[in-house]
Amino acid sequence: MDFVVEKNACSMYTCDVIYGNQGNNIPITAYLPIQHIGLDIWEVGIMYTLISQDNNVKSGEFRTVHGTIQTPVFMNVGTAAAIKGAVSTADLKEIGTQVQLSNTYHLHVRPGDEVIKKLGGLHKFMVWDRPILTDSGGFQVFSLAKLRKIREEGVYFNSHVDGRKIFMGPEESMRIQSNLASTIAMAFDECPPYPSDRSYMQESVDRTTRWLLRCKKELDRLNSLPDTINRHQMLFGINQGGTYKDIRIEHAKVISDMNLDGYAIGGLAVGESHEQMYYILEETVPYLPVDKPVYLMGVGTPANILEAVDRGVDFFDCVYPTRNGRHGHAYTGYGRMNLLNAKYELDDRPIEEGCMCPTCRTYSRAYIRHLLKAREMLGMRLVVLHNLYYYNHLMEEIRDAIRGKRYKQFKKKMLDNLNQYNDD
Ligand SMILES: [Zn+2]
Repeated sequence: MDFVVEKNACSMYTCDVIYGNQGNNIPITAYLPIQHIGLDIWEVGIMYTLISQDNNVKSGEFRTVHGTIQTPVFMNVGTAAAIKGAVSTADLKEIGTQVQLSNTYHLHVRPGDEVIKKLGGLHKFMVWDRPILTDSGGFQVFSLAKLRKIREEGVYFNSHVDGRKIFMGPEESMRIQSNLASTIAMAFDECPPYPSDRSYMQESVDRTTRWLLRCKKELDRLNSLPDTINRHQMLFGINQGGTYKDIRIEHAKVISDMNLDGYAIGGLAVGESHEQMYYILEETVPYLPVDKPVYLMGVGTPANILEAVDRGVDFFDCVYPTRNGRHGHAYTGYGRMNLLNAKYELDDRPIEEGCMCPTCRTYSRAYIRHLLKAREMLGMRLVVLHNLYYYNHLMEEIRDAIRGKRYKQFKKKMLDNLNQYNDD
């Protein structure tokens, strides 16, 4: 790709280089002032820009039709088109959410992706104008559904809601995600259980590769149709291979050649140790394109995120801040607190002193503890709001540290502090 490099094209932006290529696929780029130089970003085809890179650690900007994502980013999980814990999209904006993640399988079962398409797509339905990533439904098919049969064409299974028979394969997953009109669609893959034997893992990964080719072909077709709501829907491929390093690396090489919009690492945090997960990331991420987002699916604790960023990951999602928040567990820079503990009964301090979230600006640990004990919905909501703010704010600090070339020191300080509360 050779594009014009134009400096100082626009005084509105501090950084006006369009795109260059150093010959090693590492972009030397910065901001793209498209509206001022008459180029269409979609024709140029550059979505991801590296802002700062230090060894494997990277921070970038990812442009989408629904706005630009600053990375590393934490995607807030709204499984069924809502964050569990009575958190609205207005709340999410207030606490700095950049991207929401919604669940293809759950929305397909209820209310139905056709219903959402008739209502103008997921953005309009849930009143959210920033990026949305939808997962492929694969993980739920493999984790929730009983009586499933995996075939070359896809997976046959029974709905976890009403037991009815459902078939989902690569094409079905793409059609559902196209109906939902998310910003980023995830490829339909198999998430093999941990542990899986080597021969099964190889067979599964080979099938996932064939499914990925079918996903790409189908999404290209859907994006070309006139009645598709988001015709710029992007596709992320998913690397699998369990804890088999060589299968992971070979698969990473194969999918990197497919020129997708981003790459995810799936099938981790499914039972292996943290050390195994970090080792697989260390070995695999260098084989994914540095000029594309790298997304570690379903991970994790603040410490997991700090370690994964160190190994080149820049997209995350996890249910921990919401699920644990609903059970009274609050994340802080000093570790995880259990607000149900008796020691907080008379504690009139906020969850975390200095935290600027809507909860900590107003309410005390003692009051929130009382709400949780009394099973008042507000208790859950307040802890979830704090936790999501904590995660979003942590990512902001991570970005600042990477862009300020001080990530190693930052990580060490954060990890040292994280062990101070021991509430579990
Ligand atoms: Zn707070």
